Amino acid sequence: MRNNGPAGPAHVADLIALARSRRRLVAFTGAGISTESGIPDYRGPGGVWERNAIPTLEGFRGDPAVRRAYWDGRRERYPAMLAVAPNAGHRALVELERAGRLQAIITQNIDGLHQKAGSDPDRVIELHGSTHTVRCLDCGRRWAAPVVQARLAAGESVPTCLHCGGPLRAATVLFGEALPDAALRLAAAAARSCDLFLVVGSSLVVNPAARLPGLAKRAGAVVAIVNRTPTPLDALADVRVLGEAGPTLAALAAALVGTTPPDGADPGRADPDGVDHARE
Ligand code: NAD
Ligand code: ZN
Repeated sequence: MRNNGPAGPAHVADLIALARSRRRLVAFTGAGISTESGIPDYRGPGGVWERNAIPTLEGFRGDPAVRRAYWDGRRERYPAMLAVAPNAGHRALVELERAGRLQAIITQNIDGLHQKAGSDPDRVIELHGSTHTVRCLDCGRRWAAPVVQARLAAGESVPTCLHCGGPLRAATVLFGEALPDAALRLAAAAARSCDLFLVVGSSLVVNPAARLPGLAKRAGAVVAIVNRTPTPLDALADVRVLGEAGPTLAALAAALVGTTPPDGADPGRADPDGVDHARE
């Protein structure tokens, strides 16, 4: 298996060759898959993220002015978020899923674009929650975000829980907050059971999500990383494509959809001690 040097060109052909012999792909996506839809990434220039405005949950709970500023911002910005369209990268993952090649998408994104593109919501594992759901911080009840947006449009300035009066905010994970247990467990299970773990558009520095590629690798999967810039886990990857998510995934889907996945021995599982068969 060729491994691209850190400054090497994109090897989309290597990724396709690797994926041809794999049956159970799991995609792990970060902000980079959505930049082509116009949503800035977190670490890129101009990266603005709503979590910046709300540094801690305590600050949000404790200070009415913080909640007011949050909902003022959301009244203005959420409609634009709701209108964002998925791009070729999201659509390629839908095609791979429908062709029976893709088991799950683990995402760090909160934008809901995988589901909007047509990915089966049951196969999308949102590690950091979703901006399209609003939850009560006291009783945990949840609403679709557009329902709360309608309350704002009707004149409420700081909406509260209709059941208990508690504070509401988007159901996204804040810095320093624990990740949702159920999503983490599903993600770990998906990483352990795939035979190709495909990272797309993540700087791979946010834990514990950044540990998933290593988990997949130790369980016998091969790892591919598609990213515009190098990542700290590049040495672990069997294939790296230094390039754009959309065109790369579109090329992958075009090459695989309509071809028959290998059957019989499972390349990722054939060796009980988990030796990586893709390495030469
Ligand atoms: P990140 O911003 O840390 O890294 C994104 C990576 O994607 C960078 O390495 C960048 O070089 C690469 N990239 C950008 N555009 C690309 C493209 N078109 N093709 C290929 N690579 C591209 O993102 P992260 O690792 O997901 O961590 C950011 C955190 O902020 C996450 O926890 C996430 O929840 C949140 N966030 C989410 C969104 C979203 O939902 N769309 C956007 C920004 C931030
Ligand atoms: Zn409540």
